[in-house]
Amino acid sequence: MKMNNYYLELFEGRKNIIILPHILPDGDTIGSSIALFYALKKLEKRVYIILNDKLPSNLKFLNANSKIITTEDFEKLSIKPDLIITVDSSDTDRLGDRAYLLDLCSEVLNIDHHSTNTNYGKYNLVNSKAAACGEIIYELLKKLKIYIDKNIATALYVALSTDTGSFKYSNTTPLTLRIAADLIEKGIDFSFINTELYQNKPINKIKLLSDVLNSLELHFDGKLAVIYVTNDMLKKNKIDISDTDGIIEYARDIEGVNIAVLLKEFSDNTIKVSLRSKYDFDVSIIAKKFGGGGHKKAAGCTIYDTIDNAKNILLNTFRENFR
Ligand code: 5GP
Ligand code: MN
Ligand code: MN
Repeated sequence: MKMNNYYLELFEGRKNIIILPHILPDGDTIGSSIALFYALKKLEKRVYIILNDKLPSNLKFLNANSKIITTEDFEKLSIKPDLIITVDSSDTDRLGDRAYLLDLCSEVLNIDHHSTNTNYGKYNLVNSKAAACGEIIYELLKKLKIYIDKNIATALYVALSTDTGSFKYSNTTPLTLRIAADLIEKGIDFSFINTELYQNKPINKIKLLSDVLNSLELHFDGKLAVIYVTNDMLKKNKIDISDTDGIIEYARDIEGVNIAVLLKEFSDNTIKVSLRSKYDFDVSIIAKKFGGGGHKKAAGCTIYDTIDNAKNILLNTFRENFR
């Protein structure tokens, strides 16, 4: 079967489509989901983006909240989905408390770009060479011959920009930039988008940053940096955990640091770990040891212990694997 037909057939005769972004959503999973939402609406589908988490405040301008419903809202509708599309989720744990939705329908299309993807879908559109899911969705829309209008282009640009660190990271390819150029040609206001995404931080996030930077520790001759976001820091600065994206970059961007570790305290014994690598070290290998995953230079996992124990466990693991 030709690839083009394959994707067309995937959507043919399916009316009710659920889109599932990953928990603790970021610009790629939301931008990609919104782009798909608009695109599938053009095919006259009934589309439901289901998510129970709060969105990062810098994505407000996408007006995503008006397109997202919770599992509770969805259940009230008593709708049987014909297709479920997961976006940017390397395994079903990334769906959190919505993973049960996969039992409603075995027709699951897994769209992802993580090399650690477990291919849990019936259909797996997984390309670890893609800089963002937004790139995969752009190509899918081309194959489906769906016109990429300004709304779709804006959402896809958000996906590409946020997952490439504004086109700085090594996952950025000539294709990424060609797609970005095409999106700009659709007439999107990329300067406005960048201002909304990156120059629009809540003041409390900046205040939180001062506490986070005070927690900085350097290990292994300054090659590994650790920072904390504790519950107390979040409470003191009145900021939601959904607005802590990007903070790890301050640890990663220190001269001489190869690896950055951010420990976020969700609850007493639930620590969300973010890992970043600047050079060759593959942090997804470390994340996988703790049931997580991600990319070579950006990965994550959850450790169920105190924040100090989580740090020590991670330091021991890095010690064994550090050259
Ligand atoms: P972040 O540190 O920004 O939360 O995530 C960095 C990268 O690692 C993202 O691509 C994200 O999808 C992935 N990641 C983060 N946490 C987890 C996790 O618990 N499990 C898996 N499989 N991937 C994760
Ligand atoms: Mn993501
Ligand atoms: Mn992504």
